[in-house]
Order: sequence, then structure tokens, then C-alpha cells
Amino acid sequence: MPGLKRVELSRREILLSGIALAATGIGGQGRAFAEANLTVGDHEITVFSDGHLALPMGFVLPEQSAEEISALLTPHGMATNMLTPDCNITLLRSGDRLVLFDVGSGQNFQPSAGELLSKLEDAGIDPSDITDVILTHAHPDHLWGILDEFDDPLYPQANIHVPQGEWDFWRADDTLANMPDERKSFVVGAQSRLEAIEDQVSMITPGDEVLPGVEAVGTHGHTPGHMSYMIHGGSQSIFVVGDAISNAVISFEKPEWASGTDQDRDQGIATRKMLLDRLALDQSRIIGFHFPHPGEGQVEKATQGYRFVTG
Ligand SMILES: [Zn+2]
Repeated sequence: MPGLKRVELSRREILLSGIALAATGIGGQGRAFAEANLTVGDHEITVFSDGHLALPMGFVLPEQSAEEISALLTPHGMATNMLTPDCNITLLRSGDRLVLFDVGSGQNFQPSAGELLSKLEDAGIDPSDITDVILTHAHPDHLWGILDEFDDPLYPQANIHVPQGEWDFWRADDTLANMPDERKSFVVGAQSRLEAIEDQVSMITPGDEVLPGVEAVGTHGHTPGHMSYMIHGGSQSIFVVGDAISNAVISFEKPEWASGTDQDRDQGIATRKMLLDRLALDQSRIIGFHFPHPGEGQVEKATQGYRFVTG
């Protein structure tokens, strides 16, 4: 079919230019958040905002029609052309440990993100105070903040816990060649950063107790080695979701919709449905990386799909 390839290419270019355009920070400017404080048993948790992203809707929901998207998002007062998700970084204080779950975008992804360092400084925390970093996955908005402006490790004292599946996938020889063009920068960015922190890395696999009271849960699909974490404290717990459930409206109401941000869309759907079902049943507290800041709440079963409830 002549012309098809051309159409696909130009669609890609549109997506690409859309993501670059997002760098101008359309929507959501000037959000200012104080950090939120929670407790789980003896653990203290603070959720910091790294800012937000701006993503073209065609990148987020590549398989849905404009009508379907509008029918879902408009009643929530959400824009239908761009998604501007917050980025929530969980900090855990436990005994003598100070633990970050993901480290945000740093300065080289989108200008509306990369605020974690200044937020930590405002809270009186020096990067050298961080004893552990636990990664959910190696996408830019979760990993790229691991280096400072000189491309040196920003958390020099930290033991950096990396899912083995993420380490293996992003560092494999054929990953760059197999990645669609619009995401090749994700691979180059992950490889350079993982290489720079190699001496600080410990590998983790699903089921590991990463630190006392922190259990690794395999939630693959968004990326091949994606991991979420259950923080246990006495009779309480809280689940650090990462991007296994990526949006507080779309993922909950339409878990069966393919997410363009998922590397494996089918596995992403299966993981999301399994998690929502279990979290609703357990009435677990959760923290979603891209839910409205601070991203803490619970999953409730709804007539159709689920809903995210806070407060
Ligand atoms: Zn993300």
C-alpha cells in the first residue's frame, strides 16, 4: 500500500515533535507543592514532587479514538490533547536509613520536571545523606536524576538497588536497535546512567526484601523489569506503585486500554488489572508516581473498572 509507510513516519514525527513541544511546558505551569508526610508503623514517608511531565495524548493513548478519550476525560475536567502528570518521589526514613524510591528526571528531560534536588535541599536533606535509592524502572523521569549537572553520581553514598530485569534489558546489545525511533533516547540515556553508577548498584529480583520492611514485587509490562514495592510497618503497609498503574483516571476506569507508555502493552494491561484487583481487595494504601501529588490513596472497585480515592 503506497504511502502507508510515509503516513506512519509522519505520525512518528508528529509524536516526536509533540514530545519536544511539551518541553515548552504546556499546561500545569506554576504548580507548587509542599511535601506530604505519612507514616507506616515506625517508618516515616515523605512524598516530594519532582514537577510534572507534558505528554501528547496520542503518545499516551495510541489506540483510542478522540471520542473515546473525550468521553472519559472531559467529565473529569481533563484536557484531551495533552496529559500533564505529576511526578511523585517517595522518601522513606527508617532507622538510620534515608531511602529514595526513584530519583526523578534531572535537568535533561523536560523543563517542567527535575525539581527533586531543590526540594530535598529545602527540606534540609543533602544528597550525601541518602543511604539507598530503590528504582522501579529506568525510564527518564525515574532514573535520569541519578547524575548531577556534571554527569557525576548525585547520591555518592547510596546503595542503588536496581531490578535485575531492568539492568539486563537496558544494557543488552540489541535493545537500542530494537527500540522505536521516538524512544531511542530512552535507551541511550539509561545506558549512560546505569554505567555511571555501576559501582553503587545491587541487583534485586521479585520477592526480595530489599531493606527491612521493603518487599520487591514484580510488576512487569510498563518495562520488562518494572518493580513495585510494598513497605511494611507493623500492621500497616503502603504500596509504591511506580508506573504499573500510571494515571489516576485512565488506568483505573479503563485498565483494559493500551498505554502507549508501556513497553509491552498486553503485559501492561494484565499487570494493571491484576494489581487493581488485589489492591482493591486488600484495601491497601498506595502511592502512584504519576497520580495527582502526593499520589497517595486507595483503589476502590467501581461499577465499571475502579476508582482512585484519597483522603
Ligand atoms: Zn514515569
